[in-house]
Amino acid sequence: MAVDRLLPTDEARDLIGLTRDVADKVLAPLVDEHEKAETYPEGVFATLGEAGLLSLPYPEEWGGGGQPYEVYLQVLEEIAARWAAVAVAVSVHSLSCHPLMAFGTEEQKQRWLPEMLGGATVGAYSLSEPQAGSDAAALACKATAVDGGYRVHGSKAWITHGGIADFYNLFARTGEGSKGISCFLVPRDTPGLSFGKPEEKMGLHAVPTTSAHYDDAFVPDERRVGTEGQGLQIAFSALDSGRLGIAAVAVGLAQAALDEAVAYAQERTAFGRKIIDHQGLGFLLADMAAAVDSARATYIDAARRRDAGLPYSRNASVAKLVATDAAMKVTTDAVQVLGGYGYTRDFRVERYMREAKITQIFEGTNQIQRLVISRYLAG
Ligand SMILES: Cc1cc2nc3c(=O)[nH]c(=O)nc-3n(C[C@H](O)[C@H](O)[C@H](O)COP(=O)(O)OP(=O)(O)OC[C@H]3O[C@@H](n4cnc5c(N)ncnc54)[C@H](O)[C@@H]3O)c2cc1C
Repeated sequence: MAVDRLLPTDEARDLIGLTRDVADKVLAPLVDEHEKAETYPEGVFATLGEAGLLSLPYPEEWGGGGQPYEVYLQVLEEIAARWAAVAVAVSVHSLSCHPLMAFGTEEQKQRWLPEMLGGATVGAYSLSEPQAGSDAAALACKATAVDGGYRVHGSKAWITHGGIADFYNLFARTGEGSKGISCFLVPRDTPGLSFGKPEEKMGLHAVPTTSAHYDDAFVPDERRVGTEGQGLQIAFSALDSGRLGIAAVAVGLAQAALDEAVAYAQERTAFGRKIIDHQGLGFLLADMAAAVDSARATYIDAARRRDAGLPYSRNASVAKLVATDAAMKVTTDAVQVLGGYGYTRDFRVERYMREAKITQIFEGTNQIQRLVISRYLAG
């Protein structure tokens, strides 16, 4: 059932309508085939770009959609309800445009931003390393200053869209400690940059996640974003926004699972009545609905603070924590509602449950979100 959204403008309502149309006509017919075959849906990103859905929260003067974050996130939620892997990739693309938008020079923005925001080039974000995930400040990939730029050595891990994306936000060490990390915008065809084979994941099969290896790769000065040593600040600033994207994806997944569970419970009978009419199951569905609605409220609240120019980092962590835990619980309960059928690949709830798990892990695990929130509480 379509979510009855309270949207701020007519334009936002049109955008949600457009997204549902694209989701129904373009995403829905492809999702099962690509998730099963673990193949990348060529052309889907181009379609989303042409529909203007890849750069909604960025200013129009740079080719963005000029939409409030609150609206962008609800569009993302609609995409996730159809195809979580594609929604995650859209969210990561949006995240990977943030460093240049927020910290790039005018010249850098003019050169690269319009093609990034127009969807002509797709982005990836590479902060994690094999030995440094939650503890990002411990990253080891090294960028050594040389004449005209940097020579990069080292490996990055877990890159969503790895090997497919056209440009990579690379966070690499240019000095010591947490203030010794810098941010670079690296094109895929950089000599010395190669990618590992796609990880064999529990879910999100249609979008590859790979490692990247830098072997004496030269990155010119003009591709450093922000000042030397500003990298971690840039990385975390992008993650505040990105976490809200993951919260929205989680709500989309949870909503899809709830919808499937309700539809099934209205059809299936046991002990002479529809299973939804057994109070034990009706209440389970009611709790699922309450979890979805309240999770949505947390990300919309954080997004409104962002749109108003208020601090929202703590709220983004709350939204990510609440929404992704809700997605895990609701998708697991949806499998329960479908009984044995829910445990098979004939029904989508099985996929939703697998996909929900990653939302509790990436862009800061939920332990890390609790760390962020508790640090705010501790002042
Ligand atoms: C499918 C997928 C896609 C991804 N996409 C990207 C991407 O595009 N770009 C990117 O940079 N990264 C990406 N990641 C990496 C992801 O962000 C990391 O996996 C995540 O940050 C956790 O890091 P880790 O796996 O090294 O776990 P670790 O940091 O080793 O953590 C292991 C466990 O210890 C816990 N833990 C760690 N520190 C603390 C602490 N201080 N207090 C309490 N508990 C703690 C963690 O919560 C976790 O449960 C992706 C990962 C996956 C699986």
